[in-house]
Amino acid sequence: MNRKAERRWAAGHPWIFRSDLLERADSPAGAVRVQSAKGRPIGVALWSPKSEISLRMLDRDPLAEIDGAWWHRRIGDAVRRRERVSSVATAYRLVHGEADGCPSLVCDRYGDHVVVQLLSAGIAHFQKEIVDALIDLIDPAGILARNDVPVRTKEGLARTVEALHGQVPREIEVMENGVRYLAAPWDGQKTGAFLDQRENRALAGTVSRGRALDCFSYHGSFALHLARGADSVTALDSSGPALERARANAELNGFGNIDFAEADAFDFLRAAEAAGERYDTVVLDPPAFAKTKQSLPGALRGYKEINLRGMKLLAPGGYLFTASCSFHLSRELFLEMLRDAAADSGRTLALRATTGQPEDHPEILTIPETGYIKGALLQALD
Ligand code: SAH
Repeated sequence: MNRKAERRWAAGHPWIFRSDLLERADSPAGAVRVQSAKGRPIGVALWSPKSEISLRMLDRDPLAEIDGAWWHRRIGDAVRRRERVSSVATAYRLVHGEADGCPSLVCDRYGDHVVVQLLSAGIAHFQKEIVDALIDLIDPAGILARNDVPVRTKEGLARTVEALHGQVPREIEVMENGVRYLAAPWDGQKTGAFLDQRENRALAGTVSRGRALDCFSYHGSFALHLARGADSVTALDSSGPALERARANAELNGFGNIDFAEADAFDFLRAAEAAGERYDTVVLDPPAFAKTKQSLPGALRGYKEINLRGMKLLAPGGYLFTASCSFHLSRELFLEMLRDAAADSGRTLALRATTGQPEDHPEILTIPETGYIKGALLQALD
């Protein structure tokens, strides 16, 4: 690999791009030993012959044997780091890819089941070792591969959903900070639920009161936490099937104070503002508006619009929890967008907390791609 790639690797980033390679391995996808520009052995990496990301670093020890015992150790370390989260939730991420030293591997736990995603040709080569390690460490009733993600195409891999071990039901009941919900491992978003907002949902729950609104609610995850402190909650989503599940989740918890609105959030917020509505608690957790760097300007306009309206809807003293899961929107730009919206809103907003991902989705400082969620808790002082 070239010098530039060597510097990135030395600084703790695990990726080497196709254009940085001086010499390509002539072996099929799997693990390969990596050499510096001068031919010095510098580690072992996953090798993806078809991908733009050719190498993903596994071990800085060039002599490391990437066998079943190696995967067991690596995944076992990640599992042990989840001990604390396992005391507050039965659904959480066991392995967060690059952040846990297992590049392009996602393992999420839903009670007695595990859902995995093998997102590169290199990692797919080690499917058996990974499944064996999970069976030994977790003893799950079933392991499902949610390998239906577009990035697999770039790796020359098929897009499939299949059980790799035991049985996996269509719905799995799980718990998070005292709230119960149904995960949908086979066809839900991501691996069956948005596990990456757990701590933010708990935070929103602690300030929830009065009349609450959860926009972009999906299966009602924020709404369920809001319902504990609020008099009433409106769970809003443009997807009817998503709201059906939100309703089932509300029933599962015996919450009678949630109503459901199938609507476009932009339209709903505009109409609520025009009607002079007020909410004591508002949550905005939209899908990624900026899917690419090029779409950032348009995305910023979208983020600003919903946040501006959310701010205007706040009753005096009311709270807004707002988030973005766009990787391309930096933390700085997110806060700048909120400042812009606050300036236009005519309200005085206190920044009570800035947040990120929960502890089971670690954001590694030297690997920006491991972090994508930004959150802010704002309070209207007037
Ligand atoms: N807050 C959820 C995750 C939200 S995912 C959680 O913590 O689990 C984003 C949701 O936004 C999806 O359910 C999608 O159906 C919905 N959505 C996308 N565009 C929308 C729009 N314009 N108006 C309302 N909902 C929208």
